[in-house]
Amino acid sequence: MSTAKLIFTPLSYTGWGSLSQLIPEVEKHSPKKILVVTDPMLEKIGLTKRVTDPLEKSGYDVTVYTDVVPEPPLAIGEKLVSFTRDGGYDMVVGVGGGSALDLAKLAAVLCVHEGAAADYLNLSGTKQVTQKGLPKILIPTTAGTGSEVTNISVLSLETTKDVVTHDYLLADAAIVDPELTVSVPAKVTAATGIDALTHAVEAYISVNASPVTDGLALQAIRLIGRSIRKAVEDGSNQQARIDMSNGSYIAGLAFFNAGVAGVHALAYPLGGQFHISHGESNAVLLPYVMGYIRKSCQTKMADILNALGGNSNYLSDEEASYKCVEELERIVKDVGIPSTLAGFNIPESALESLTKDGVQQKRILARSPLPLGEVDIRNIYRSAFE
Ligand code: NAD
Repeated sequence: MSTAKLIFTPLSYTGWGSLSQLIPEVEKHSPKKILVVTDPMLEKIGLTKRVTDPLEKSGYDVTVYTDVVPEPPLAIGEKLVSFTRDGGYDMVVGVGGGSALDLAKLAAVLCVHEGAAADYLNLSGTKQVTQKGLPKILIPTTAGTGSEVTNISVLSLETTKDVVTHDYLLADAAIVDPELTVSVPAKVTAATGIDALTHAVEAYISVNASPVTDGLALQAIRLIGRSIRKAVEDGSNQQARIDMSNGSYIAGLAFFNAGVAGVHALAYPLGGQFHISHGESNAVLLPYVMGYIRKSCQTKMADILNALGGNSNYLSDEEASYKCVEELERIVKDVGIPSTLAGFNIPESALESLTKDGVQQKRILARSPLPLGEVDIRNIYRSAFE
């Protein structure tokens, strides 16, 4: 018998129009000065105002911080932490994709800690998070990362990525309103949607999966599988946006509890070395990693095939696992993401540096059902060039 530790905080609101829960949630903390962390694009298209207008109308002193870039480098995180420390805020609201949400939770927690954000990194840091920090509400505007329900903040380093992770980074409330995702461009809808699908697939095959996370992961795969193409083709398709937001949120719960594995471990160096977005890095590697580890999780891959709308009846698990890889390949292609590393202009000469950084991701690799060492990692990257 094994014990599964499951954390299903934060308190969450999901559904079209759920942003209406913002003010009641803010009121619970009686803040005076609220820092809203967002990105310049969301400010420009007026999405940030959807959050700041009701806050200001309710009498709160609101500061909008927009110095957020996609896949934020450590330096951007350091700057925001200092800004938050100096500003005397008593609440942080993050509104945006994973980049803005990750920085919002980082700042809310590290503003009450000493030292630099670098000191708290998982791989190279030396300090531990010890205090909860400011209350934080996270409002995703992409359907992808699940950051609104995880205890992780991802930061880009020179050649790879690292995380600050602690349960104090969990939001006090998550508001997952699919209406906020309608303006996401098709390319970002595709990349973030495959990110969410990867979370669910990797949580399902993770060595840390439990019957509870399995149920979440399969439901996320169903919702995303039936709607990702529709959301990319027509961003105004309300049902597709609802499915994608729910799928991303549920996949977040699944992977936060079961972990992600080989796809993410190998994707981080693509983001770090070639600045490929997190979603696209996962997307291009998903079929190759799943093809490589297929034999270690054939029955689960048959389940994934079924959740994606395929049919494993009359197939052996081995046959179904091949079909599952084909279906994942098809989805990545249908949403318009290049299917090889060459498609992202990555030269084959990068094979060794990618492998070297991939091997470092030991914490993530440990959840792969097929142990992945240096030779395996090199083989997978090599296959993704062909
Ligand atoms: P993102 O936040 O970088 O946003 C991508 C682009 O989409 C940006 O240009 C942004 O302005 C735009 N955008 C966002 N919402 C929009 C909207 N509603 N309308 C129009 N444009 C919009 O992308 P992301 O994929 O959501 O986040 C990626 C980051 O999240 C990476 O740093 C990744 O490592 C991290 N991540 C974190 C977790 C976690 O658990 N914390 C999990 C996975 C990924």
